[in-house]
Amino acid sequence: MRIQPPFSTVAQDTTCAHCRRRSRLISRGLGLCLDCIRGDFEAVLPHIEKAHSQARAPFHLPGQPPQDETGAACRLCVNECQMAPGQKSYCGLRTNEGGKLMGASADRGRVSWYYDPLPTNCVADWVCPAGSDAGYPRFSYSSGPEYGYRNLAVFYQACSFDCLFCQNWHFRYDATRAGWVSAASLARAVNQRTACICYFGGDPSPQMPHALRASRLALEHNQGRILRICWETNGSMHPSLLRQAVELSLKSGGCIKFDLKAWNPRLHRALCGMGNERTLENFRLAAQYLSQRPDPPLVVASTLLVPGYVDEEEVAGIAAFIAQIDPDIPYALLAFHPHFYMADLPPTSRRHAVEAQKAALAQGLRRVRIGNLHLLGDAY
Ligand code: SF4
Ligand code: SF4
Repeated sequence: MRIQPPFSTVAQDTTCAHCRRRSRLISRGLGLCLDCIRGDFEAVLPHIEKAHSQARAPFHLPGQPPQDETGAACRLCVNECQMAPGQKSYCGLRTNEGGKLMGASADRGRVSWYYDPLPTNCVADWVCPAGSDAGYPRFSYSSGPEYGYRNLAVFYQACSFDCLFCQNWHFRYDATRAGWVSAASLARAVNQRTACICYFGGDPSPQMPHALRASRLALEHNQGRILRICWETNGSMHPSLLRQAVELSLKSGGCIKFDLKAWNPRLHRALCGMGNERTLENFRLAAQYLSQRPDPPLVVASTLLVPGYVDEEEVAGIAAFIAQIDPDIPYALLAFHPHFYMADLPPTSRRHAVEAQKAALAQGLRRVRIGNLHLLGDAY
Protein backbone atom coordinates (compact mmCIF):
# COMPACT_ATOMS: atom_id res chain seq x y z
CA MET A 1 0.00 0.00 0.00
CA ARG A 2 1.34 3.42 -0.90
CA ILE A 3 1.62 5.70 2.13
CA GLN A 4 0.23 9.18 1.66
CA PRO A 5 1.74 12.00 3.71
CA PRO A 6 -0.76 13.50 6.16
CA PHE A 7 -0.33 17.05 4.80
CA SER A 8 -0.31 19.11 1.64
CA THR A 9 2.88 19.64 -0.33
CA VAL A 10 1.81 22.69 -2.34
CA ALA A 11 4.35 25.51 -2.00
CA GLN A 12 2.79 28.92 -1.38
CA ASP A 13 3.13 32.02 0.80
CA THR A 14 2.13 31.26 4.39
CA THR A 15 1.13 33.77 7.08
CA CYS A 16 2.97 33.72 10.41
CA ALA A 17 0.33 33.06 13.10
CA HIS A 18 2.00 35.62 15.39
CA CYS A 19 3.25 38.62 13.36
CA ARG A 20 1.05 37.99 10.28
CA ARG A 21 3.99 38.35 7.90
CA ARG A 22 3.61 36.33 4.70
CA SER A 23 6.46 34.38 3.13
CA ARG A 24 7.22 31.28 1.15
CA LEU A 25 9.83 30.48 3.79
CA ILE A 26 7.23 29.95 6.53
CA SER A 27 6.07 26.36 6.79
CA ARG A 28 2.37 25.72 7.28
CA GLY A 29 3.17 22.74 9.49
CA LEU A 30 4.71 25.11 12.05
CA GLY A 31 2.92 28.31 11.06
CA LEU A 32 5.51 30.66 12.58
CA CYS A 33 8.37 32.72 11.18
CA LEU A 34 11.95 32.54 12.43
CA ASP A 35 11.88 36.08 13.89
CA CYS A 36 8.88 35.33 16.11
CA ILE A 37 10.42 32.07 17.35
CA ARG A 38 13.69 33.80 18.22
CA GLY A 39 12.23 37.07 19.46
CA ASP A 40 8.90 36.29 21.12
CA PHE A 41 9.25 32.68 22.19
CA GLU A 42 7.05 32.69 25.30
CA ALA A 43 4.18 34.12 23.27
CA VAL A 44 4.48 31.57 20.47
CA LEU A 45 5.22 28.52 22.65
CA PRO A 46 1.55 27.40 22.91
CA HIS A 47 1.36 27.52 19.11
CA ILE A 48 4.54 25.43 18.83
CA GLU A 49 3.22 22.83 21.27
CA LYS A 50 -0.06 22.63 19.38
CA ALA A 51 1.75 22.18 16.05
CA HIS A 52 3.71 19.24 17.44
CA SER A 53 0.69 17.63 19.08
CA GLN A 54 -1.20 17.87 15.80
CA ALA A 55 1.75 16.44 13.89
CA ARG A 56 1.89 13.41 16.18
CA ALA A 57 -1.81 12.66 16.46
CA PRO A 58 -2.12 10.80 13.10
CA PHE A 59 0.52 8.36 14.36
CA HIS A 60 -1.13 7.89 17.77
CA LEU A 61 1.89 9.36 19.53
CA PRO A 62 1.53 11.58 22.63
CA GLY A 63 2.02 15.30 22.06
CA GLN A 64 4.37 15.67 25.04
CA PRO A 65 6.49 13.19 27.04
CA PRO A 66 4.19 11.73 29.74
CA GLN A 67 5.13 12.96 33.21
CA ASP A 68 2.96 11.08 35.67
CA GLU A 69 4.74 11.44 39.03
CA THR A 70 4.07 7.88 40.14
CA GLY A 71 4.23 6.36 36.66
CA ALA A 72 6.64 3.78 35.23
CA ALA A 73 9.85 5.62 34.35
CA CYS A 74 12.25 5.31 31.42
CA ARG A 75 15.56 7.19 31.50
CA LEU A 76 16.99 6.10 28.15
CA CYS A 77 16.66 9.53 26.55
CA VAL A 78 16.24 13.18 27.37
CA ASN A 79 12.44 12.86 27.54
CA GLU A 80 12.51 10.83 30.77
CA CYS A 81 8.95 9.57 30.30
CA GLN A 82 6.88 8.60 33.34
CA MET A 83 3.82 6.71 32.19
CA ALA A 84 0.59 6.21 34.09
CA PRO A 85 -1.03 2.78 33.63
CA GLY A 86 -2.08 2.39 29.99
CA GLN A 87 -0.09 5.42 28.84
CA LYS A 88 2.27 5.29 25.86
CA SER A 89 5.79 6.77 25.85
CA TYR A 90 6.80 9.74 23.71
CA CYS A 91 8.78 7.51 21.34
CA GLY A 92 5.81 5.11 21.18
CA LEU A 93 7.96 2.11 22.09
CA ARG A 94 6.96 1.65 25.70
CA THR A 95 3.82 1.46 27.80
CA ASN A 96 2.92 1.05 31.43
CA GLU A 97 1.14 -2.27 31.77
CA GLY A 98 0.00 -2.98 35.29
CA GLY A 99 2.73 -0.80 36.74
CA LYS A 100 5.49 -2.39 34.65
CA LEU A 101 7.40 -0.81 31.81
CA MET A 102 6.74 -2.93 28.71
CA GLY A 103 7.86 -2.72 25.10
CA ALA A 104 11.29 -2.28 23.52
CA SER A 105 14.26 -3.62 25.48
CA ALA A 106 17.85 -4.79 25.01
CA ASP A 107 16.48 -7.86 23.31
CA ARG A 108 13.36 -6.54 21.54
CA GLY A 109 13.75 -3.84 18.95
CA ARG A 110 11.59 -2.17 16.32
CA VAL A 111 14.22 -2.24 13.62
CA SER A 112 14.89 -3.08 10.00
CA TRP A 113 18.10 -3.13 7.96
CA TYR A 114 19.56 -3.24 4.48
CA TYR A 115 22.96 -3.59 2.85
CA ASP A 116 24.40 -0.43 1.38
CA PRO A 117 27.34 -0.88 -1.04
CA LEU A 118 30.42 1.15 -0.04
CA PRO A 119 31.32 3.90 -0.56
CA THR A 120 27.85 5.10 0.38
CA ASN A 121 26.37 8.56 0.83
CA CYS A 122 26.86 8.40 4.59
CA VAL A 123 27.19 11.78 6.34
CA ALA A 124 30.81 10.89 7.18
CA ASP A 125 31.91 8.99 4.06
CA TRP A 126 34.22 11.86 3.01
CA VAL A 127 36.37 11.39 6.14
CA CYS A 128 35.79 7.75 7.17
CA PRO A 129 37.58 4.51 6.21
CA ALA A 130 34.73 3.42 3.91
CA GLY A 131 34.93 6.37 1.55
CA SER A 132 38.44 7.79 1.94
CA ASP A 133 42.01 6.75 2.80
CA ALA A 134 41.37 7.36 6.52
CA GLY A 135 42.26 4.65 9.01
CA TYR A 136 44.07 2.33 6.59
CA PRO A 137 45.24 -0.39 7.26
CA ARG A 138 44.10 -0.82 10.87
CA PHE A 139 40.46 0.13 10.34
CA SER A 140 39.96 -0.14 6.59
CA TYR A 141 40.09 -2.91 3.99
CA SER A 142 41.43 -0.51 1.40
CA SER A 143 43.73 2.53 1.10
CA GLY A 144 40.86 4.26 -0.76
CA PRO A 145 37.10 3.66 -0.87
CA GLU A 146 36.14 0.14 0.20
CA TYR A 147 34.69 -1.10 -3.10
CA GLY A 148 33.17 -4.57 -2.82
CA TYR A 149 32.21 -4.13 0.84
CA ARG A 150 28.93 -3.07 2.38
CA ASN A 151 27.52 -1.07 5.21
CA LEU A 152 24.83 -2.74 7.31
CA ALA A 153 22.40 0.18 7.59
CA VAL A 154 20.26 -0.37 10.68
CA PHE A 155 17.08 1.66 10.80
CA TYR A 156 15.54 2.06 14.25
CA GLN A 157 11.85 2.76 13.82
CA ALA A 158 11.19 5.28 16.56
CA CYS A 159 12.54 8.64 17.64
CA SER A 160 13.01 10.76 20.74
CA PHE A 161 12.45 14.01 18.77
CA ASP A 162 9.58 15.23 16.63
CA CYS A 163 11.27 17.09 13.78
CA LEU A 164 8.64 18.63 11.54
CA PHE A 165 11.05 18.33 8.59
CA CYS A 166 11.81 14.64 9.26
CA GLN A 167 13.58 13.22 6.20
CA ASN A 168 12.67 9.63 7.19
CA TRP A 169 9.15 10.16 8.52
CA HIS A 170 7.73 6.87 7.17
CA PHE A 171 8.99 4.99 10.19
CA ARG A 172 6.06 6.41 12.15
CA TYR A 173 3.80 4.11 10.12
CA ASP A 174 6.23 1.24 9.75
CA ALA A 175 6.92 1.03 13.49
CA THR A 176 3.39 -0.05 14.25
CA ARG A 177 3.46 -2.74 11.55
CA ALA A 178 6.87 -4.30 12.16
CA GLY A 179 7.32 -7.07 14.70
CA TRP A 180 9.99 -7.25 17.36
CA VAL A 181 13.52 -8.23 16.35
CA SER A 182 16.09 -9.66 18.75
CA ALA A 183 19.59 -8.23 19.08
CA ALA A 184 20.97 -11.65 18.14
CA SER A 185 19.02 -11.69 14.83
CA LEU A 186 20.35 -8.26 13.99
CA ALA A 187 23.93 -9.29 14.82
CA ARG A 188 23.60 -12.30 12.52
CA ALA A 189 22.87 -9.97 9.58
CA VAL A 190 26.59 -9.09 9.51
CA ASN A 191 28.36 -11.13 6.85
CA GLN A 192 31.88 -11.35 5.43
CA ARG A 193 31.35 -8.36 3.11
CA THR A 194 30.09 -6.11 5.93
CA ALA A 195 32.74 -3.52 6.78
CA CYS A 196 30.63 -1.26 8.99
CA ILE A 197 27.34 -1.11 10.86
CA CYS A 198 25.53 2.23 11.05
CA TYR A 199 22.66 2.71 13.48
CA PHE A 200 20.25 5.44 12.44
CA GLY A 201 16.48 5.81 11.94
CA GLY A 202 14.33 7.42 13.40
CA ASP A 203 17.04 7.54 15.98
CA PRO A 204 18.94 4.87 17.88
CA SER A 205 18.55 6.82 21.18
CA PRO A 206 15.32 5.14 22.40
CA GLN A 207 16.75 1.69 21.56
CA MET A 208 20.38 2.05 22.62
CA PRO A 209 20.42 -1.07 24.85
CA HIS A 210 19.35 -3.13 21.80
CA ALA A 211 21.95 -1.54 19.52
CA LEU A 212 24.71 -1.96 22.10
CA ARG A 213 23.88 -5.62 22.60
CA ALA A 214 23.73 -6.26 18.84
CA SER A 215 27.09 -4.47 18.39
CA ARG A 216 28.80 -6.54 21.05
CA LEU A 217 27.46 -9.78 19.59
CA ALA A 218 28.48 -8.79 16.06
CA LEU A 219 32.01 -7.87 17.20
CA GLU A 220 32.28 -11.15 19.10
CA HIS A 221 31.23 -13.15 16.00
CA ASN A 222 33.66 -11.22 13.79
CA GLN A 223 36.82 -11.15 15.85
CA GLY A 224 40.06 -10.79 13.92
CA ARG A 225 38.63 -8.71 11.09
CA ILE A 226 37.53 -5.11 10.54
CA LEU A 227 33.95 -4.28 11.55
CA ARG A 228 33.34 -0.64 12.39
CA ILE A 229 30.48 0.43 14.65
CA CYS A 230 28.96 3.83 13.72
CA TRP A 231 26.01 5.89 14.90
CA GLU A 232 23.98 8.66 13.33
CA THR A 233 21.98 10.33 16.04
CA ASN A 234 20.24 13.39 17.44
CA GLY A 235 22.38 12.83 20.55
CA SER A 236 19.50 12.70 23.03
CA MET A 237 20.36 9.42 24.76
CA HIS A 238 21.40 9.06 28.40
CA PRO A 239 25.11 9.97 28.69
CA SER A 240 26.00 6.53 30.12
CA LEU A 241 24.64 4.93 26.93
CA LEU A 242 26.54 7.38 24.77
CA ARG A 243 29.79 6.50 26.55
CA GLN A 244 29.28 2.82 25.72
CA ALA A 245 28.51 3.66 22.10
CA VAL A 246 31.58 5.87 21.75
CA GLU A 247 33.82 3.23 23.30
CA LEU A 248 32.63 0.63 20.78
CA SER A 249 33.24 3.06 17.91
CA LEU A 250 36.63 4.04 19.27
CA LYS A 251 37.90 0.46 19.37
CA SER A 252 36.34 -0.64 16.09
CA GLY A 253 37.37 2.37 13.94
CA GLY A 254 33.82 3.70 13.66
CA CYS A 255 32.40 7.11 14.42
CA ILE A 256 29.49 8.90 16.01
CA LYS A 257 27.69 11.40 13.80
CA PHE A 258 25.74 14.05 15.68
CA ASP A 259 22.92 15.77 13.90
CA LEU A 260 23.04 19.30 15.38
CA LYS A 261 19.72 20.64 14.17
CA ALA A 262 19.80 24.23 15.43
CA TRP A 263 21.91 26.37 17.75
CA ASN A 264 19.17 28.52 19.30
CA PRO A 265 17.39 26.24 21.83
CA ARG A 266 14.08 27.98 21.12
CA LEU A 267 14.32 27.28 17.42
CA HIS A 268 15.41 23.73 18.20
CA ARG A 269 12.29 23.29 20.31
CA ALA A 270 10.09 24.77 17.60
CA LEU A 271 11.50 22.50 14.89
CA CYS A 272 12.13 19.31 16.86
CA GLY A 273 9.76 19.46 19.83
CA MET A 274 12.71 19.37 22.28
CA GLY A 275 15.57 21.62 23.33
CA ASN A 276 19.18 20.89 22.33
CA GLU A 277 20.89 21.00 25.75
CA ARG A 278 21.33 17.21 26.13
CA THR A 279 22.60 16.91 22.55
CA LEU A 280 25.27 19.56 23.08
CA GLU A 281 26.34 18.06 26.42
CA ASN A 282 26.62 14.65 24.77
CA PHE A 283 28.62 16.10 21.88
CA ARG A 284 31.14 17.49 24.39
CA LEU A 285 31.23 14.15 26.15
CA ALA A 286 31.96 12.20 22.96
CA ALA A 287 34.63 14.74 22.00
CA GLN A 288 36.53 13.95 25.21
CA TYR A 289 37.63 10.74 23.49
CA LEU A 290 39.04 12.45 20.37
CA SER A 291 42.68 12.42 21.44
CA GLN A 292 42.56 8.63 21.92
CA ARG A 293 42.11 8.11 18.17
CA PRO A 294 42.65 11.09 15.91
CA ASP A 295 42.39 9.01 12.69
CA PRO A 296 39.79 8.18 11.45
CA PRO A 297 37.69 10.98 13.05
CA LEU A 298 35.63 9.67 15.97
CA VAL A 299 33.09 12.52 16.07
CA VAL A 300 31.42 14.13 13.05
CA ALA A 301 28.73 16.84 13.02
CA SER A 302 26.03 17.65 10.51
CA THR A 303 23.22 20.20 10.12
CA LEU A 304 20.27 20.16 7.75
CA LEU A 305 19.84 23.59 6.14
CA VAL A 306 16.08 24.03 6.52
CA PRO A 307 15.02 27.06 4.39
CA GLY A 308 13.60 29.94 6.40
CA TYR A 309 14.71 28.46 9.73
CA VAL A 310 18.28 27.09 9.86
CA ASP A 311 20.13 30.14 8.56
CA GLU A 312 23.74 31.36 8.71
CA GLU A 313 23.28 32.56 12.30
CA GLU A 314 22.35 29.04 13.41
CA VAL A 315 25.25 27.49 11.52
CA ALA A 316 27.72 30.05 12.92
CA GLY A 317 26.59 29.26 16.49
CA ILE A 318 26.99 25.51 15.96
CA ALA A 319 30.34 25.97 14.19
CA ALA A 320 31.72 28.18 16.99
CA PHE A 321 30.68 25.54 19.53
CA ILE A 322 32.44 22.77 17.57
CA ALA A 323 35.53 24.86 16.82
CA GLN A 324 35.99 25.69 20.47
CA ILE A 325 36.11 21.92 21.22
CA ASP A 326 38.30 21.01 18.22
CA PRO A 327 38.48 22.87 14.88
CA ASP A 328 39.33 19.63 13.06
CA ILE A 329 35.98 17.96 13.80
CA PRO A 330 34.38 17.42 10.36
CA TYR A 331 31.12 19.31 9.81
CA ALA A 332 28.69 18.48 6.97
CA LEU A 333 25.99 20.94 5.89
CA LEU A 334 23.14 19.02 4.31
CA ALA A 335 20.66 20.17 1.71
CA PHE A 336 17.02 19.90 2.77
CA HIS A 337 14.49 18.13 0.62
CA PRO A 338 10.83 19.16 1.23
CA HIS A 339 9.34 16.50 3.49
CA PHE A 340 6.72 15.71 6.08
CA TYR A 341 5.16 18.78 7.77
CA MET A 342 7.65 21.04 5.99
CA ALA A 343 6.91 19.68 2.54
CA ASP A 344 5.72 23.14 1.48
CA LEU A 345 9.19 24.72 1.82
CA PRO A 346 11.58 24.86 -1.17
CA PRO A 347 14.78 22.79 -1.26
CA THR A 348 17.89 24.48 0.20
CA SER A 349 19.20 27.00 -2.30
CA ARG A 350 22.78 27.08 -3.55
CA ARG A 351 23.20 30.57 -2.09
CA HIS A 352 21.99 29.43 1.35
CA ALA A 353 24.42 26.48 1.35
CA VAL A 354 27.41 28.57 0.28
CA GLU A 355 26.68 31.30 2.85
CA ALA A 356 26.29 28.66 5.56
CA GLN A 357 29.62 27.11 4.63
CA LYS A 358 31.31 30.53 4.76
CA ALA A 359 29.75 31.15 8.18
CA ALA A 360 31.09 27.83 9.49
CA LEU A 361 34.58 28.41 8.11
CA ALA A 362 34.62 31.91 9.59
CA GLN A 363 34.29 30.34 13.05
CA GLY A 364 37.58 28.51 12.56
CA LEU A 365 36.42 25.04 11.50
CA ARG A 366 38.86 23.49 9.05
CA ARG A 367 36.73 20.70 7.57
CA VAL A 368 33.33 21.89 6.36
CA ARG A 369 31.55 20.28 3.47
CA ILE A 370 28.25 20.80 1.67
CA GLY A 371 26.57 17.42 1.30
CA ASN A 372 23.66 16.32 -0.93
CA LEU A 373 24.73 18.78 -3.64
CA HIS A 374 22.25 17.22 -6.07
CA LEU A 375 19.34 18.42 -3.87
CA LEU A 376 20.30 22.12 -3.98
CA GLY A 377 17.87 24.45 -5.72
CA ASP A 378 17.74 28.14 -6.62
CA ALA A 379 14.26 29.11 -5.44
CA TYR A 380 15.24 31.80 -2.90
S1 SF4 B 1 28.88 3.74 8.67
FE1 SF4 B 1 30.83 4.55 9.45
S2 SF4 B 1 32.46 3.56 8.33
FE2 SF4 B 1 30.51 3.12 7.26
S3 SF4 B 1 30.35 4.67 5.68
FE3 SF4 B 1 29.31 5.52 7.45
S4 SF4 B 1 30.86 6.60 8.66
FE4 SF4 B 1 31.89 5.36 7.15
S1 SF4 C 1 13.39 6.25 25.15
FE1 SF4 C 1 11.20 6.53 24.73
S2 SF4 C 1 10.21 5.83 26.61
FE2 SF4 C 1 12.33 6.19 27.13
S3 SF4 C 1 12.44 8.30 27.86
FE3 SF4 C 1 12.90 8.36 25.68
S4 SF4 C 1 10.94 8.76 24.67
FE4 SF4 C 1 10.48 8.08 26.75
